[in-house]
Amino acid sequence: MRMRAAVLTEYGEPLSIESVERPEPDPDGIVVEVDACGICRSDWHAWQGHGEWADDQAPLGQVLGHEPAGEVVEVGSRVERITEGDRVAVPFNLGDGTCRECLNGHGNVCPEGLALGFKPDAPGAFAEYVHVPAAEYNAVPLPDGVSAVETAALGCRYVTAFHALRHRAGLEAGEWLVVIGCGGVGLSAIQIADAFGANVVAVDISDEKLERATEVGATATVDPTELGNGAEEGVPVAVRAATGGGAHVSMDALGREETCWQATESLRRRGRHVQVGLTGSDERGSISLPTDEMCHREIDFHGVRGMPPTRYEEILPLVERGRLDPGRLVTREVALEDVADRLAAMTDYETAGIEVVTDF
Ligand SMILES: [Zn+2]
Ligand SMILES: [Zn+2]
Repeated sequence: MRMRAAVLTEYGEPLSIESVERPEPDPDGIVVEVDACGICRSDWHAWQGHGEWADDQAPLGQVLGHEPAGEVVEVGSRVERITEGDRVAVPFNLGDGTCRECLNGHGNVCPEGLALGFKPDAPGAFAEYVHVPAAEYNAVPLPDGVSAVETAALGCRYVTAFHALRHRAGLEAGEWLVVIGCGGVGLSAIQIADAFGANVVAVDISDEKLERATEVGATATVDPTELGNGAEEGVPVAVRAATGGGAHVSMDALGREETCWQATESLRRRGRHVQVGLTGSDERGSISLPTDEMCHREIDFHGVRGMPPTRYEEILPLVERGRLDPGRLVTREVALEDVADRLAAMTDYETAGIEVVTDF
């Protein structure tokens, strides 16, 4: 059987809509009919050909798309806990389900893991159907009250923000968070922090994005274009003023030297930084930081990669009860044919919030 899919044929050229082989389930895998799949900046990085510096470049011929929700249509011979007709979320960071990391709840960093939509062995979900390996470990059953679009909005971006703040930085009620870059993951972080009783300073150069940040829960906003560049001005000074001495937790949602530096410099003593944005062709995987000064102030620096599949159960009940509302971050529903245009719009940061493919 064949299906429609959006294929990366040349870096930087529009994705091509092609007829490809429909996946068959491995003995431990399932096939999911995709109802919704978010379009993420990681797709944009893959489309640009980024990641070669970290052995992480998506190959030509790859079906992209890594934020799917859908219905199980076929299960492998060894799969028992999932059946046809189940609705599931699929994390992008697929664990093998058997190694030490997976068994200890860290499947997002499984050494044998696959990145859905980035590796040839894991074709993505800008397609009518997607295969999920080690499905009993990776596929997450959805409660009835959580829709496919909401699940696609969970992401990677929303769950990455949740993992960053809750599990890596341990953000607590009453603390201050500074978020640099208010795209999909930044807005997700703001909504989550607000729901958990933290205060947020949102930083972005776009008025529209700052307005949206305020709508979803930011307490204060900073626009770097309205600040000077001297030592007594700039983003860290503005954040320290807004937070009474610096944020407890900082997030760089963009992955640029300037924003990473601004984020860590905006922290108070013993602050915790979460690095969520991956670098582009300017930094090529490396950013220099004032490490001596970070030692003096005992700053923690946390890398973040998605969220372990085993921790979705912390988020889904909150979404079902409306405590968290990822669906509110969805700004546009589009068709498979539109993905190429929406990726192109990301080049100049022209997209807002989270855009989701719902028509395959
Ligand atoms: Zn593993
Ligand atoms: Zn993503």
